[in-house]
Amino acid sequence: MENNFETRYTKYGYGVNVRKSYEHLPFQGFWTWVTGKSLNSAAPKHARETLLTQPQLILQISWGYAVFFASVIIGKIILDADISWMLKVLYSLPIFCMIVNRSRGLLHTSHYVIHGAVLRSKTLSRFYYKWLLSIPVLHTPWDEYMKIHVVKHHGLGTFSTEHDVDQVFMTKHGFYNGMREPEFWLKIFLAPFHPLRIYEHIRFRILVNFIVCNWNERLCRATYWFILITVAYASGYFESFLIYYVGSILVVTQFSSWIQHITEHQWFGVNRLNWPKHVFYGSLTWGRFFGSPYPVKAEGWRFAFMFCKWVLKVTFIDIPLRLFAYMQDLPSHDFHHRFPAVGFWSIAPERAAHENKPSRYGPMTETWSMKEGILIARDHLCRGQSDPFDIEGWYQANKHTYAAFFDNKQRGALSTQSLKEECRV
Ligand SMILES: [Zn+2]
Ligand SMILES: [Zn+2]
Repeated sequence: MENNFETRYTKYGYGVNVRKSYEHLPFQGFWTWVTGKSLNSAAPKHARETLLTQPQLILQISWGYAVFFASVIIGKIILDADISWMLKVLYSLPIFCMIVNRSRGLLHTSHYVIHGAVLRSKTLSRFYYKWLLSIPVLHTPWDEYMKIHVVKHHGLGTFSTEHDVDQVFMTKHGFYNGMREPEFWLKIFLAPFHPLRIYEHIRFRILVNFIVCNWNERLCRATYWFILITVAYASGYFESFLIYYVGSILVVTQFSSWIQHITEHQWFGVNRLNWPKHVFYGSLTWGRFFGSPYPVKAEGWRFAFMFCKWVLKVTFIDIPLRLFAYMQDLPSHDFHHRFPAVGFWSIAPERAAHENKPSRYGPMTETWSMKEGILIARDHLCRGQSDPFDIEGWYQANKHTYAAFFDNKQRGALSTQSLKEECRV
């Protein structure tokens, strides 16, 4: 039977199922992590089955804290070592990378906690969110994050509009519909390094953590950070703590966040073709995977050449990008928008389980590199080409067959368990 919900690609992609070309390789768990895409073929689970137990959550958090402690200790050894400053910078790079990876990892865990996609208990969720996931990395307090992320960023009518703080972030970096291409490229490479952007980010962190939140949050956050700074000072690790830990969460994190943010969604999206609102919502986001087709069919010297190229790309592009900017669930962020109640440990396998299945959000779509994501952003903002996956072609071919799916009043007509889960934002 013809599958009308097959995954769609852009003209800049490989046009093939890249992940499938990895299927014969050993260590499939590793390839799922590197690419961000799973080959899971089991039936979709209920969102409830993907939640974590408390020990699993504690394990997840402990891994982050272990990286922080180890980094500050190793950082002090580097700072105290009798070596040139250039070597010190070089040795510091992996430390910054790992602290950014785990501080943004904790932030993403807190993001799932606030969606109710980690623990069922709201009281426990609030506790973990506040004390272990938010305060230590200067993340936004619960009430404010609920408002700006869960309500506005996920909202059917506010996602990717001027009401969405994530789009405001792009506006502040100078992006808009109808940009000229030289301006686009200049801003892609330079905007996050503008001193004013760095200042605004630090100011925002201080404001939301210590000034504009309620008195309880202010007191808790100020007390926590006072104790932390005192301990760092008294233990002799203050300099290392300040440079590697505080420097990472206030400055370096911002560069990491920027890299993934550019391609996170189709910012400044306009529903020009009048698609049903869920189809339009689905079109604003796509799977962002890393890798290139494994040379399955090549032989002899041609295979050797293509294999070496593939290994170099995995080692120097895919893995560093995944570690520094696309940690945790970010390659499958499109699926999170469709099913926000699914836990992050299960996001890749669950996305795979739902792939090619009917959805009122339309078919799933995917890109396979940062470059591909940036090119479709360029086409959208500078060339007025805003339908990289040809959703319009797909919609025109299928709108009558799936009319009931797209009519919100008749949601039950093709209802599945997934439809109920989708709605839990
Ligand atoms: Zn979310
Ligand atoms: Zn999003």
